[in-house]
Amino acid sequence: TNPLFDGLLATGRTTPDKCFAILPDGREFTYADVEAVSARFANALVALGVEPGDRVAVQADKSIEALMLYLGTVRAGGVFLPLNTAYTPTEIDYFLNDAKPRVFVCDPAKRDGLAATAEGAGARLETLGVRAMDAGSLNAQADAASGEFATVARQPSDLAAILYTSGTTGRSKGAMLTQDNLLSNAEVLRDYWRFTAEDVLLHLLPIFHTHGLFVASNTAMIAGGTMIFLPKFDVEQVFKYLPRATAMMGVPTFYTRLLADERLNRERTAHMRLFTSGSAPLLAETHRAFEERTGQRILERYGMTETNMSTSNPYDGERRAGTVGFPLPGVELRIVDAETAKPLPDGEIGVIEVKGPNVFCGYWQMPEKTAAEFRADGFFITGDLGLIDPQGYVTIVGRGKDLIISGGFNIYPKEVELALDELPGVVESAVVGVPHPDFGEGVVGVVVARRALDEAELTGALAERLARFKQPKRIVFVDELPRNTMGKVQKNILRDRFADLLG
Ligand code: ATP
Ligand code: MG
Repeated sequence: TNPLFDGLLATGRTTPDKCFAILPDGREFTYADVEAVSARFANALVALGVEPGDRVAVQADKSIEALMLYLGTVRAGGVFLPLNTAYTPTEIDYFLNDAKPRVFVCDPAKRDGLAATAEGAGARLETLGVRAMDAGSLNAQADAASGEFATVARQPSDLAAILYTSGTTGRSKGAMLTQDNLLSNAEVLRDYWRFTAEDVLLHLLPIFHTHGLFVASNTAMIAGGTMIFLPKFDVEQVFKYLPRATAMMGVPTFYTRLLADERLNRERTAHMRLFTSGSAPLLAETHRAFEERTGQRILERYGMTETNMSTSNPYDGERRAGTVGFPLPGVELRIVDAETAKPLPDGEIGVIEVKGPNVFCGYWQMPEKTAAEFRADGFFITGDLGLIDPQGYVTIVGRGKDLIISGGFNIYPKEVELALDELPGVVESAVVGVPHPDFGEGVVGVVVARRALDEAELTGALAERLARFKQPKRIVFVDELPRNTMGKVQKNILRDRFADLLG
């Protein structure tokens, strides 16, 4: 058996005529199509020399074919390695030389620019197109291949994918994910979020990242459900397809953009059973505003490329704004002191560590880094800081790397951000530490304002709310916060930009 492929298709296989995906052109892609088209890609890959354990790297626009290429790779016993579509040829060069894939699949339009890179890394270059107009070389080979394939047997501990982390805090690392890492998390999420064959998931996320590829696609598939598989988030498309959906998964920016549209209301969302958010912190304010407008409480969950999903707010119980809920079934989570590694009592802030079948087996070709990020008892050190409240809800207060140490005091940016966000006229904020001649680091608040605001006024208002050492030494105004495609605020960019502000 191939645990991941067989597990994901266990239900869908019994309903071959059922729609697996509604495509942007209105076409319906059935579970029989999933079997056949993934077989075609598996055959094409094997013909290209892909053997069990080989990496298949892919930088391609989102399409149902790209998703079938993922399944085809798994069926061939290969290791699927998706790459962010925004990566430049220079970045691709790093990833290919790091991952050494057997095959690299790119967009037809990028072929010429990437040929030398692929050759240098020893990868066979093929292309995958989205529209019939520019169908790629791999589409043609898959079309010509048989729709039947004897799926390659794999062990639960064999690799199924390598996903590079988002690179928010530094250079991306390749997280090695096993068949069982992915399968176990899909099963848990299906059950925890009550996904069934009746569900229609509005799929708007990119599929090069764990959120869109695994959390969304695997969960819908293992439930035998249907997806509305759209190329990207687009407000018009959301309102067009919302009536046919039962569930939607998003990053926080999806929700803030929907809130900015007056069509968002109770009536248009009344039939929806679930909205989830993750990949970046959802402001409690957004959570409340969404509930006020729609009557729906967004379910926030927490995960990482390395761990799949680790925690989730409850389906039935209280979905608490500003928290990421409870450890998922099978996941152990503890908060430890960063220095001593000793577990901390509830309510105290420390490093979040997790252990369970969801946790990856290491960073690709980084044995030292892998060893450094795991405790002897198997817990993975996430690098995120958080606390557990008396009811067991986990709250994330930020990343360890974003912690500000000023004059010997620890400052959690989130606390200062929450205080800033509460001030009238402030839309959102990001708080970073930059070099300070006396204190080592000093606090800088970066604010997006609704209207013209006065720095001194904000500073004055904060003086009443925060201890002096936490108060920003400067507050600067920007039109928008720098974010990556997953909606994560890029604090490194802010730190660079304001590096000399306190010097
Ligand atoms: P890199 O590890 O390369 O710096 P990254 O950590 O942003 O990049 P991902 O694996 O995509 O790469 O993101 C995981 C991180 O996203 C988590 O460690 C956490 O900091 C953040 N995150 C995910 N979900 C949430 C959430 N609901 N609330 C707050 N933060 C979240
Ligand atoms: Mg990370």
